[in-house]
Amino acid sequence: MGVSVGIDLGTTFSAVAIIGQDGLPRIVENSEFEKTTPSVIQFRDGEIVFGSEAKEAFSAGDPNCAAFFKRNMGLYKPYGTFGGRSYTAEELSGMLLKHIKSSAENTLGSAIDEAVITVPAYFYSKEREATMEAARLAGLKVRKIINEPTAAVIAYGLNNWRVNANILVYDLGGGTFDVTLVRMGENQVLRTLATTGNRFLGGVDWDERIESLLVEKILESTRFDASESERFKHLLKGSAEGLKKQMSQKSSSKLTIRIPEYGKVTSEISKAEFDQATVDLLEMTGIMCATVLKSAGASWKDVSDTLLVGGSTRMPQVREYLQKLSGKPPIAHVNPDEAVALGAAVQTILADTECVDGPGARIESRLIKPVGASKKISAKSVPNIKLNEVTTHPMGVIAINPEGTMYINELIIPANHQIPTRQARSFKYATSAYGSNELEIYVLQGDRKPLDCVIPYKYVATGIKHGATPETTIRIQYSYDQNGIIHVQARQGDSKTDLPIRKEPVPEDMSMYGKPIEKRPPAPEPLSIMLAIDTSGSMYGAPMQEAKMAMASFVNQFKSRMIGGTARIGILAFTYGPETVLRLTSDPAQCLSAIETIERYGRSGIHPLDGIKSELREAPGRKCSIVLTDGEWSDGGTAIPAAKKCHEAGIEIAAIGFGYFDRAFLSSISSSDANAFLVSRGELESAFGTIAQSLGTQASPKAGEKSRDTQNSEVWDID
Ligand code: AMP
Repeated sequence: MGVSVGIDLGTTFSAVAIIGQDGLPRIVENSEFEKTTPSVIQFRDGEIVFGSEAKEAFSAGDPNCAAFFKRNMGLYKPYGTFGGRSYTAEELSGMLLKHIKSSAENTLGSAIDEAVITVPAYFYSKEREATMEAARLAGLKVRKIINEPTAAVIAYGLNNWRVNANILVYDLGGGTFDVTLVRMGENQVLRTLATTGNRFLGGVDWDERIESLLVEKILESTRFDASESERFKHLLKGSAEGLKKQMSQKSSSKLTIRIPEYGKVTSEISKAEFDQATVDLLEMTGIMCATVLKSAGASWKDVSDTLLVGGSTRMPQVREYLQKLSGKPPIAHVNPDEAVALGAAVQTILADTECVDGPGARIESRLIKPVGASKKISAKSVPNIKLNEVTTHPMGVIAINPEGTMYINELIIPANHQIPTRQARSFKYATSAYGSNELEIYVLQGDRKPLDCVIPYKYVATGIKHGATPETTIRIQYSYDQNGIIHVQARQGDSKTDLPIRKEPVPEDMSMYGKPIEKRPPAPEPLSIMLAIDTSGSMYGAPMQEAKMAMASFVNQFKSRMIGGTARIGILAFTYGPETVLRLTSDPAQCLSAIETIERYGRSGIHPLDGIKSELREAPGRKCSIVLTDGEWSDGGTAIPAAKKCHEAGIEIAAIGFGYFDRAFLSSISSSDANAFLVSRGELESAFGTIAQSLGTQASPKAGEKSRDTQNSEVWDID
């Protein structure tokens, strides 16, 4: 049987750790006997090279190297072309994971089955899914995805658990920054209070500032613009990181290069120049620290310790800046390259987090308790550490404001809410007005206006039923699982079953959601129509066939309104008495096949018009009946009072007669003279058509399938 490991899949370096025989985590060296592996891949003449060689090639400016691809996780777009083939960030991460897995397997002498992989806390759902995908490509089963800062605090807490201590994890890596406030609670519970971050802020930004300084200095001394030359740009890029690292030890660093037609040039950058050129980057991190403290209801004085994670925290200016902000020296004795992998390894032996509901804890007065003395967690009680994490991003859905004038972000799960969690909201959804039985659900990550948020997914809930009322309730449930991945479900009304849902790519052009909603014409009034056909003997043969064709063509004209739920049609056949062939339905196919089945029907005792009345009595909206008959009724005298009762019940009647007929009789049962049609057989279809047009066959223009008037709703289990 294989083993489980913790993997820190870093932007610049990755590391693997395992729980050793002693019950404590330790780093697994790679086949180069190094504790970390550069997250760089070199594509060299058909060969794929990893490790220090790849990193050196990258530093020397080799364009056949892929690096920093973690920044593009979740985009599922080509990251770059190497060795004649284009690769996505997921594929490159998969290749890297496969390499570090097999390298660690060599060291361990046993197969690795599954892994806990760390990601930056602010990684969106899509990026977490992309990480799972990379692991799948590498043949690794993911036991869990956990946040890097949490992993770092686990590693730190093993030797320094201080009950009630609030630890601010400041994680400045190669390409990403995040800051998280974690509380060491009683009973070894680690509770994340708040977190935020920026996926485009990291050591590489400091490198770029060095590149710019170098370009400036070279230009000053030689008039040569290195930024114009691809070769020099690569060279400076490759050198910048080394110079930056030197400045973590020295007060300046130098680079000597050979410029064509000029010769050797040495450029020197002082630490003061470097600090000045990058102070805004540091301040950006400070603003994010303040944001996190604010959302946890805390201030710097509540921070027991600031824990430095990520290679870029080796820069002395980072430490000085944090000391200035927090008033105490940050903790730097945790090895930033190893802590995250060590914490992930601990998670391989912890139980899965249960579904905990409710907002993340805030530092309220009841939480301000004396901080306990620092203690070591014994190997025996390592598996008892419990994690309570929170959502990094609020999550909403695009909805329509109550005034129906604009699209808004209706929040379903707030930021810094404990996870895993499920939250549901009900939305009023107009069924009849806009003719759709599908609801588009755009997931928004963020709490700003729809287009200022990340829109990771589009879901389409299908099979929405159209009932008697023009509106229905759709309940949308979002779940954040313990890996920080979103799941979306929808239910109609009180139904206990989920609507079928499909995932679709988010359209490139979402601009309509930033514009005011055009005023739509009012929804057409629902229509309920009973088609009543005389099936007495004289209708047999050709007249019946023709009548059926005319009825079918009538139904076809209402197809879109029926599908849209604003028209329902039923069928009634009569001889002496009526018989319902099909009750009112909004399913045109059902209607068309019922027409096919019409034969001789008839039930004595009730008048056909009474039958029509009872079918339409409870029907919504405008109620009409088209009565088709081919001869005067033998009990004509009873027809007039029966028709009157229909009219009084708000049922409009149109009568079509053909054959030997008296127009006056048709008029007497119709709602008005204009509704009486005496036609020859060939004109049946056009008579039905005239009535259809007067009733309005057009559904409203399709547009707003969105929802409004929201309220909280009860959650349900994921199947
Ligand atoms: P990580 O993503 O956590 O592996 O961090 C890698 C980043 O740390 C890269 O940008 C490195 O250049 C940076 N880094 C590593 N060591 C140092 C150092 N001594 N001084 C400054 N930056 C460093």
